[in-house]
Amino acid sequence: MDLIIGAGVSGIAYANYTNHPCEIIEKESEIGGYCRTIKRNGFVWDYSGHFFHFRHPEIKKLVSKNIEQSTLSTVQKKTSILYNGQYIDFPFQKNIHQLPKDEFIDCLYDLFAATPIEGEYSFKEMVYSHYGKSIAEKFLIPYNEKLYACDLNTLDQEAMGRFFPKAGKEEIVLNFKNEENDSYNQIFVYPKGGAIEYIHSLAKNIKETPISLKEELISIDTNKKIAQTNRRTLKFDNLISTMPFPKLLDKCGIQYDKGLFTCNKVLVLNIGFDRKGKDTKSSWIYIPDKDVIFYRVGYYDNIMQSDRMSVYVEIGFPENAQLKTTNYYIDKVIADMIKCGLITDQKVVDYEAIIMDPAYVHINKKSVGAVKHFKALLEKKKIYSIGRYGSWTYCSIEDNIVEARDLALKIK
Ligand SMILES: Cc1cc2nc3c(=O)[nH]c(=O)nc-3n(C[C@H](O)[C@H](O)[C@H](O)COP(=O)(O)OP(=O)(O)OC[C@H]3O[C@@H](n4cnc5c(N)ncnc54)[C@H](O)[C@@H]3O)c2cc1C
Repeated sequence: MDLIIGAGVSGIAYANYTNHPCEIIEKESEIGGYCRTIKRNGFVWDYSGHFFHFRHPEIKKLVSKNIEQSTLSTVQKKTSILYNGQYIDFPFQKNIHQLPKDEFIDCLYDLFAATPIEGEYSFKEMVYSHYGKSIAEKFLIPYNEKLYACDLNTLDQEAMGRFFPKAGKEEIVLNFKNEENDSYNQIFVYPKGGAIEYIHSLAKNIKETPISLKEELISIDTNKKIAQTNRRTLKFDNLISTMPFPKLLDKCGIQYDKGLFTCNKVLVLNIGFDRKGKDTKSSWIYIPDKDVIFYRVGYYDNIMQSDRMSVYVEIGFPENAQLKTTNYYIDKVIADMIKCGLITDQKVVDYEAIIMDPAYVHINKKSVGAVKHFKALLEKKKIYSIGRYGSWTYCSIEDNIVEARDLALKIK
């Protein structure tokens, strides 16, 4: 029997692809992991916006199989940066021509004065050496410091992989006249019922697989291949874990340096208002200003074409930060939204606070090496770790499904 830990997209996708008998245990009271959806007072909120962008048509077909097609909206992304009270198209580095003239000249001059450095370097060094001081300090550094809540020198140059919008000097200059700001998620698909619809669709394919909710893995005897949960003792042939990688090591009693696996956490505030705001087009907005508490605001109402303003607001924290009360953050967020001109006199109808912990893991050479090392050790015991947090990486939902499929094929 394959024992799957976690009924998020990775665990459920693995069950879709394996030909082994399997069982899923999930510590929460519902399936979905970070792809869960809250529906209340007419609002549909995810654990922050969760948009599905597909590179593999067969995966799109699989996850959409049990969804009524008319309930799927295909959305052309519209994003911008609120910089000093002005909206600049995203990504910043390709749209410096939209800045006031003196700032544009600073960015352009520094871009051409910057010289890429040789060898291994940090994310912060990459930003300075590829884009120059002005682009770095006006957007790339403050925005990512707000998001990651860490010293960007602790992240590897490739910490964001394909999710970082790279642009060369020539591309930046060409963009001054022919704007081409496409990115990996330029067009995304969104179910009217929120991200959980995709998970329910995948779960319908595995009706014969037992999913035990409110059952938490407590420990693993790696030699005897026995998992202890809060309810039972389970013998497994293969164990597929989607829980955060350091937690899996803890459950297996493996010693490691805790400093290898660090991350941020994100407080997501989903807020529903009594009516539309003035921005009826944006999908989401990036805010690099450190005097504003949030780094990103997304508009569910614009994406889903609904008639009342409904947003997700994201605030990054170091993983060990002690958070204040939800009321404190709601008051601060509303005050900052007014300050930024995102709302005027709209009234809050309902809100929900969610903490995503971990949210963005800190990727560097040491963390990547440690994941590889410990995964190889565990695989000898038929314990496999997959998923965004199981592989301690930065990836999309589709990447999670691909990884789950590849593992199922490997050990079939
Ligand atoms: C702010 C933010 C925004 C994002 N937006 C997008 C987006 O727009 N598009 C996109 O493609 N991706 C997005 N992602 C990434 C996406 O959320 C993840 O890739 C995906 O949800 C990970 O799924 P998973 O199954 O690997 O992990 P999870 O969703 O974390 O699932 C793991 C499951 O394991 C369970 N579990 C943990 N420990 C135990 C235990 N001891 N016993 C039993 N069960 C346990 C958990 O409860 C959970 O249900 C975003 C991520 C963040 C942080």
